[in-house]
Amino acid sequence: MEIRSAEALLLDVVDLHDYDRIVTFLTREWGKKRGVAKGARRKHSRFGGQLQPLGKARVEWMEKDNRDLVRISSVELQSSARRLQQDLEGLLLSAYLVDHIQEFVQEDEPSDLFFRLLDSTVQAVIDGVDRGLATRYFEAWVLRLAGVFPAPESCPECGRVLEASGVALVASGESMVCRACADRVGMATKVSPQAVDFLRRIDGTKLVNLNRDCPTVSTLDEVESICTKVRRSFLQHELKSYRVIRETISGLPGNPAPPTENY
Ligand SMILES: [Zn+2]
Repeated sequence: MEIRSAEALLLDVVDLHDYDRIVTFLTREWGKKRGVAKGARRKHSRFGGQLQPLGKARVEWMEKDNRDLVRISSVELQSSARRLQQDLEGLLLSAYLVDHIQEFVQEDEPSDLFFRLLDSTVQAVIDGVDRGLATRYFEAWVLRLAGVFPAPESCPECGRVLEASGVALVASGESMVCRACADRVGMATKVSPQAVDFLRRIDGTKLVNLNRDCPTVSTLDEVESICTKVRRSFLQHELKSYRVIRETISGLPGNPAPPTENY
């Protein structure tokens, strides 16, 4: 048996039997972990008030070989994300961020970059960064860290440098190609120079700095559409929380589908 301790971001908390809870958390050192918090549902549990989704906490746990679930011995909340979860939109956004980590981060693999991305995105939204901007930044970065969606610098088909004014997303959503290759494969969707610019600028630019010169809503809508296609192509399914978000906001006015233009 091994005792471990790490700073963690709590991802998910679900009830187990009458008295316990299962907690999924993200660490820098060991990626995603799942563990049982014994007695966490009891009235005077030592976990009381500590198990907050997206809260940052010091977690200590015990591991046994060949066991999927670790045993959590203590959780000490350091900072809460409750301010992000005070309205429906914030709750949906939280679920969407967590869904990405659940899908893209492996168990027991160092995940420092994913940890920093989730931590900084949650903090930025709490600090008032535009939620649409933060969501697009996060989803584009998750795809980049997962190695499925590199920055649009060169065409994967022919190797030419991509001009911002001549980029297209192939119909399968697998890659962004140059104009000549888009003509050849057909059915590619033109990507605006503004969206290309955004996908390049997220490299080396902090979210708070992007917020000072925030892209337009239509550019962010386009980035959402691109990331959704790439993600779906990679996962071969849609994130549950994304479907819920679309269904929830589709009934609201002012949310038209982003315009697309085919070559
Ligand atoms: Zn090309």
